[in-house]
Amino acid sequence: MATDNFKGAAGYLQQEQGYRDKALKMYPWICGRCAREFVYSNLRELTVHHRDHNHDNNPADGSNWELLCIYCHDNEHTKFHEYILYGATKEKVLAPATFNPFAQLKDLMEKK
Ligand SMILES: [Zn+2]
Ligand SMILES: [Zn+2]
Repeated sequence: MATDNFKGAAGYLQQEQGYRDKALKMYPWICGRCAREFVYSNLRELTVHHRDHNHDNNPADGSNWELLCIYCHDNEHTKFHEYILYGATKEKVLAPATFNPFAQLKDLMEKK
């Protein structure tokens, strides 16, 4: 029996449950993006999002939490990943924009 693994998973769930409970007590059960309202029966579709995307950052005042439905939550993380992926790439792409590829071509043509 992999009791150690089981304990580890349970510990993680307990931690998540801890801040989720706090966030649900602190905030109205409404998705912060699409304003969908939640009741007990569908509450499991309402999730706690960490504004700074750091799940270990759980201040007691709830300032790092935001309640989002699973769809908006998904969307939020896709955006964040796109920001990391394409935000970083964009800078690399934009940087050589000051370089004029035709300058060299003009040079070559004038030498002719
Ligand atoms: Zn939503
Ligand atoms: Zn999140």
